[in-house]
Amino acid sequence: MAVIYDRVALIGLGLIASSMGHAMKKWGLAGSVAGYAKTEATREVALELGFCDEVFVTAGEAVQGADLVILAVPVGAMAQVSKEIRHHLKPGATITDVGSVKQAVVQAVGPHVPDGVDFVPGHPLAGTEHSGPRSGFATLFKNRFTLLTPGDARPEAVARLRALWEGMGALVEEMEADHHDLVLAVTSHTPHLIAYTMVGVADHLRRVTESEVIKYSAAGFRDFTRIAASDPTMWRDVFLTNKEATLDVLGRFTEELFALQRAIRMGDGDELFNYFTRTRAIRRGIIEAGQDTAAPDFGRVAADPT
Ligand code: NAP
Repeated sequence: MAVIYDRVALIGLGLIASSMGHAMKKWGLAGSVAGYAKTEATREVALELGFCDEVFVTAGEAVQGADLVILAVPVGAMAQVSKEIRHHLKPGATITDVGSVKQAVVQAVGPHVPDGVDFVPGHPLAGTEHSGPRSGFATLFKNRFTLLTPGDARPEAVARLRALWEGMGALVEEMEADHHDLVLAVTSHTPHLIAYTMVGVADHLRRVTESEVIKYSAAGFRDFTRIAASDPTMWRDVFLTNKEATLDVLGRFTEELFALQRAIRMGDGDELFNYFTRTRAIRRGIIEAGQDTAAPDFGRVAADPT
């Protein structure tokens, strides 16, 4: 594939950034990749694994001469890194990010974007419960959506970033930042909170948790534990910054939960059956859209992340 950006700077070198680095290398999408992370150990891993050509001890140095700057730190750190890079950006460069929340990132980064630089916020809907520079792999974004919320960025800057994501195998769509946050509150943020809660409930039920929860862990609970193993810093920041939408969806969730609780108490089998029939149709829709596999156990055993 053709080089899309001569020089890319990755700010933050964890799961998402390392996956992007590997993907850009694999498909020849960037002339060179510079990187910055807080700790020396992370920077060394980036060089060792080769998803960065060079690493720097400050974010400012890393972005010098970069045509594309990718902010891949937790949402709560976006303002700080934007402040650090603002005076080092190349005129005509594009800044993007991969944060899981968009309105808060726009508010955090927007004020630090100098004239002549485009800011195109983004969010790849791809991830695992693992974090850090060793957890990334080139095919993470393949056939997964990446949502861009370009605001008033120049169309040519948006088109170029879209080409990069498509080069990494992603399906790209554009939407408004507030719409993004509501959609993600439904599809990702609230489900994570529910998973954290369910695992927390099991933990409180000491009677069963000792070894039995692990030993007899059935698919439902196992899936919750996988989600609840996700990075605490990232998820703390998601809930602190996508507060309104998450609380809105949680309110609706609680109402539905009470309705099902009542159906169970009243022995209303029809209500339960009809409800589960509707939800089963949603699962089928996700599989038909190619966003998951119908293989038993979610194809996990057969899955090959490479
Ligand atoms: P990660 O694996 O935990 O890596 C985070 C990186 O950010 C690390 O390299 C870390 O550096 C650096 N960092 C943390 N705090 C920093 C600070 N204050 N200043 C500078 N660097 C800092 O995280 P990730 O999963 O790649 O997530 C990165 C972003 O992608 C987040 O905004 C998240 O919302 C978003 N996202 C995540 C997923 C997912 O499933 N994980 C999916 C889509 C989007 P050190 O290693 O030196 O500590």
